[in-house]
Amino acid sequence: MRASFRIFRVFGIDVEVHISLLILLILLIYAFSVSPPPYGFEGFPEVERIILSTLAAIGLFGSILAHELGHSLVARRYGVKIKGIMLFIFGGVAMMENLPKKPREEFMIAISGPVTSFGLGTISLFLSSIPVAEVRAFFLLFGYINIILGVFNLIPAFPMDGGRILRSFLAERRSYVEATKIAAETGRTLAILMAIFGIFTNPWLILIALFIYIGANEEERLVLLENVLGRVSVADVMSTDVVTVSPEMRVSEVIDLILKTKHLGFPVVDDGRIVGIITLHDIIGVDPEERIGNVMSREVVTISPDKSAFDAFKIMSEMGIGRLPVVEDGRIVGIVSRSDLMKIKEILETLEVMGWRKRGSS
Ligand code: ZN
Repeated sequence: MRASFRIFRVFGIDVEVHISLLILLILLIYAFSVSPPPYGFEGFPEVERIILSTLAAIGLFGSILAHELGHSLVARRYGVKIKGIMLFIFGGVAMMENLPKKPREEFMIAISGPVTSFGLGTISLFLSSIPVAEVRAFFLLFGYINIILGVFNLIPAFPMDGGRILRSFLAERRSYVEATKIAAETGRTLAILMAIFGIFTNPWLILIALFIYIGANEEERLVLLENVLGRVSVADVMSTDVVTVSPEMRVSEVIDLILKTKHLGFPVVDDGRIVGIITLHDIIGVDPEERIGNVMSREVVTISPDKSAFDAFKIMSEMGIGRLPVVEDGRIVGIVSRSDLMKIKEILETLEVMGWRKRGSS
């Protein structure tokens, strides 16, 4: 089942909404309608209260969208490909490919979100001086939402913009990896302090702290992984003795092959060309006499041997798959698996400790 839907396009960027957001929308309308000003519309007549609360809830998502658009439009000026903006229960995310690692460019992209929020917040607070009770209450709340959004995102910890801003400063004098490690450590420390503070004040802070802690770890892990796996090509690390199966084979034969090779999946090859992929998952509960051609998945994601091992890792993570056939001129020349990449990462790190270097390493 699809969990997100494209609702519209703005500046040529697709905006998708996740189902989880609808639940939040209803909760927000309720929360705004029972909270006293400036955080809600308690005290207004019932119909006005519902209309204002609905507008404010939609306005909150509009604010998040504007924030993400701020990032996206600046990123696009630096040639970053924007795959779309997704709005979901925890906020928004601009899906961008290959973010620049130059400190100045990273800084400009990271700061443009909070700048957009503060801009909207200021205009909105200014509009709240209009002497009509409803208009005043709406813009006051809308202004607060944007200012809070801007401030929250400036917390110097991944995955917030503040974490990227901090790294861009650190990276002026250090390597990107070194800067990431320090920024991630700062984020983790901040998260621990926030959680301790939360125990005594607001339990929500503990949840935010957890989110920051995980975000810091994730960013660090990815950058370290890219640093190592980005230096070797798929051709360097792929297994070339690929075990393939034909679409004519029976499920029972493939189960024998899985037991013998301990591989969990095989490319399906017909006349030298790859036509599908079969994994243990595909044949669970299937008649042992069934032909592989009828149960294999036909959507095969492949990679070319000259890509980096980190590209292979990214594709596997994004698609949620464990192995990637390596294809050159339509012919299968090798295979990489996620577990192989993790082993290779460990090997390369050990080699690096011993002083080994390859390919334009810094
Ligand atoms: Zn942001």
